[in-house]
Amino acid sequence: MALQRPKGTQDLLPSQTAKWQYLEEMMRKVCREYGYEEIRTPIFEATELFQRGVGETTDIVNKEMYTFLDKGERSITLRPEGTASVCRAYVENKLYAGPQPVKLYYIGPMFRYERPQTGRYRQFHQFGVEVLGSEKPVVDAETISLVWDLYQRLGLKNLEVHINSVGCPSCRADHRQKLQEFLAPRREELCPDCQDRFERNPLRILDCKNPKCQKLTQGAPTTADTLCEDCQGHFNALQELLQAAGVVFRVNPRLVRGLDYYRKTAFEVMVEEIGAQSAICGGGRYDGLTEEIGGPPTPGIGFAMGMERVLAAIEVQKAMPDQVERPFVMVAALGKEAEGKGFALLQALRHAGIPAGMDLLGRGLKAQLKNADRQEAKLALLIGEEELQKDSFILRDLSLGEQQEFPWQDALALISQRYREEHGS
Ligand code: ATP
Ligand code: MG
Repeated sequence: MALQRPKGTQDLLPSQTAKWQYLEEMMRKVCREYGYEEIRTPIFEATELFQRGVGETTDIVNKEMYTFLDKGERSITLRPEGTASVCRAYVENKLYAGPQPVKLYYIGPMFRYERPQTGRYRQFHQFGVEVLGSEKPVVDAETISLVWDLYQRLGLKNLEVHINSVGCPSCRADHRQKLQEFLAPRREELCPDCQDRFERNPLRILDCKNPKCQKLTQGAPTTADTLCEDCQGHFNALQELLQAAGVVFRVNPRLVRGLDYYRKTAFEVMVEEIGAQSAICGGGRYDGLTEEIGGPPTPGIGFAMGMERVLAAIEVQKAMPDQVERPFVMVAALGKEAEGKGFALLQALRHAGIPAGMDLLGRGLKAQLKNADRQEAKLALLIGEEELQKDSFILRDLSLGEQQEFPWQDALALISQRYREEHGS
């Protein structure tokens, strides 16, 4: 039996990689404009990093990690997300000692052992941004605006940007108590996971995907109701800045991130048209995280974007520009001598930056022309027996169906000129 790729992974074939490259280039371009620089951290890390940095109570750490012992008996985990690694690198490389804030981005594969379905894979890709070293609301506004601008640039529509504030440890204690009071009479009806969360982390009950839990938490006190003055001021400032930047958003009091080190801002972007897995981006402020992994207290904020889902949104909204790279000219030569001559010209054309190709299967002239047509080349350059004798070539315009004979020595100059006329450079 022929071998198959592991469940939940994908082969990206050339028709798809062209789209991935388009998306990646757009991300890099927007990051450059915003002054974010790329960081590349290892694909695998010590398991402890994610236990501490993502949190022991999360689904990611509890159920979804690819963890194994390496030959040196170290517990290793394929990274399920990027933030913990970036914070580790910030501390380990003492980036806190340089100018602040540090504005970073990453693009790469992540690994989670989940049930594969549309928009949910075991190897998937994230584009993410992290800003370390400033707690000011203008940083929160900048990262959300970056997401917004990227989506505008990609031509995406029907975006729902939700924001919320989950407060800080002091206002969360107040909320926690009110939430527990509200949920206590309904406690038995919650799903087993949420019954578990009731004591440990009731905030995350608001985030449960179980429809019954969602119903039971309707009308529950939200974090927004209990924000302290500092957190409220931060949240108000963020909203004003986003309005000033023209970002269209909605305050969603149910949007939460349940871990201790999350502070203040949480946000998510959804596109309903791509199906049940509609979240294309999620982010928030994590002022307590760097300390959690052993670094100096450092405020931080970031987001991660699921690239498969962004591409799905681009696909359903037909926002992808044509990515096919067509040869400008196909060299069609017959016989060994003509092939040598044609190949030399082919290379000269390529060195001049002109996309060009040639038959690689030893086909006859007619089949070569047919192939040039199929590849949607603009021109075909023919060298048959007769042209070889006369030291000439025939240039055929494949869209017009017209052709003309020229002296061989003019070939490069002529085609270069035609290419420049066509591409305006
Ligand atoms: P979900 O609720 O969909 O599981 P999440 O809360 O686990 O998302 P994050 O950890 O915040 O997601 O990751 C950020 C983004 O990465 C998500 O909004 C989504 O676009 C994408 N993402 C997460 N898990 C997967 C996956 N298994 N396959 C594809 N994309 C994913
Ligand atoms: Mg998940």
